[in-house]
Amino acid sequence: MADLLLRLANDRRTAGLIRRLGLPTPVRLARVAGGYDAAPLAGRLVVCSAAPGGFAEAALRQAAEDAGAHCVTELSEGQAADALLFDATGCRTPGDLAALHGFFAPKLRRVARNGRVLVVSRDPVTLDDPVAAAVARGIEGFVRALGKEIGRRGATANLARLAQGAESQLAGLVRFCGGPRCTYVSGQVFRLAPAAAPQPGASQLAGKVAVVTGAARGIGAATAQRLAEEGARVVCVDVAAARDALYETAARVGGLPLVLDIAAHDAPSTLAAFLRDKTGGVDVVVHNAGITRDKTLANMKPELWDAVMAVNFAAIAAIDTALLAGKVLHDGGRIVCLSSVSGVAGNFGQTNYATSKAAVIGYVAAQAPLLAPRGISINAVAPGFIETPMTARIPLMTREAGRRLNALSQGGLPRDVAELITFLALPSSAGLSGNTVRVCGLALIGA
Ligand code: NAD
Repeated sequence: MADLLLRLANDRRTAGLIRRLGLPTPVRLARVAGGYDAAPLAGRLVVCSAAPGGFAEAALRQAAEDAGAHCVTELSEGQAADALLFDATGCRTPGDLAALHGFFAPKLRRVARNGRVLVVSRDPVTLDDPVAAAVARGIEGFVRALGKEIGRRGATANLARLAQGAESQLAGLVRFCGGPRCTYVSGQVFRLAPAAAPQPGASQLAGKVAVVTGAARGIGAATAQRLAEEGARVVCVDVAAARDALYETAARVGGLPLVLDIAAHDAPSTLAAFLRDKTGGVDVVVHNAGITRDKTLANMKPELWDAVMAVNFAAIAAIDTALLAGKVLHDGGRIVCLSSVSGVAGNFGQTNYATSKAAVIGYVAAQAPLLAPRGISINAVAPGFIETPMTARIPLMTREAGRRLNALSQGGLPRDVAELITFLALPSSAGLSGNTVRVCGLALIGA
């Protein structure tokens, strides 16, 4: 369902009227086609600075320059910043936090449309001093509030929470959060741990195999396409009822179709055998298939509860067990699970769905340390309102509320979610595991 307000607010003939009516005026988000190139920040003006006593500024600047950005420490007269990068790892006392105000306040009006902010802090859980830990946690509040202020310009703000020794992991994150692909991810925390990761470049998934469940349409189809654009051979999975669309997606991305109900009792062994025999195993697993069966709890029949739990969570755990057991999922692999903002904040009429999606959040947190010895990372992606057949079925007024109640005043596109999933699937994202990252345009209410 097309977003009429987005169109009218960006049409010169109607934009004034929309403003006078006091309606939201969402900015058309700039998106890039195709895969990463070697210099994704080429032509971008990036301001990079730090609070005194930090340890990440050099890595931050190096990452931006390696990605092709032109880095400065201050803006000259008349310049607008495409991105502001700030190392706040030096902030240990409440007074130190003033460095955030000192850097950002004078520049905020000069952040370009679709601009980016990335702040780096220490990870509070690694700090023994309670005040220093609280200060590090405070920076999260700053980034979330800042994201809500710059969202009206289509700009996004995110936080990298850095364990000591994880500076090299900033290279991939700067390319994503500091560049054009971070369209609908804002106000999010990326916890980075030390890990061996190759320097990011183009075609990072060349020679790799990925599997995407629910790939026939929506977010799954967009993800299959993005992974293929990065060079992966993609196995596309969906149910028999979606066979035609599944074959279309697989053909479009040059991948392999597999008709399979992931909730069937023999689905894990069927998928493992398919991957072992046809592709020699798998490097990236995207658990995207999901269903809703909404009813208030008092009216919810047990079969609605069971169906949602089976597809949205139980199938993920069962498939992972099968793929991990026989090392069908290679060492150094990536698992990305689809959760939902509903799993973070809950949602009326979705006790079944919210339970299953919150379970996914718990699952990635619990699995991450267990998979670390094999170099496998696991993360969850929690979409907010994304324009797909799933959300097109929502009644008009509820749909409008869902679209507007975020800092960007619009729904995301499947491609925006696919960008985040793809970023997490790259070899250069090795330092990220156990995270749940929302892709919600920075929801204004709820979590
Ligand atoms: P969608 O309904 O458009 O597509 C889901 C796909 O999964 C369909 O092709 C469907 O046939 C497939 N599928 C369902 N059950 C399956 C099964 N048992 N086995 C194999 N395939 C199965 O959904 P979408 O909007 O693209 O959502 C994708 C994921 O993102 C889901 O997990 C969903 O819960 C989550 N999500 C979506 C939104 C949103 O706004 N669209 C918001 C939050 C979370």
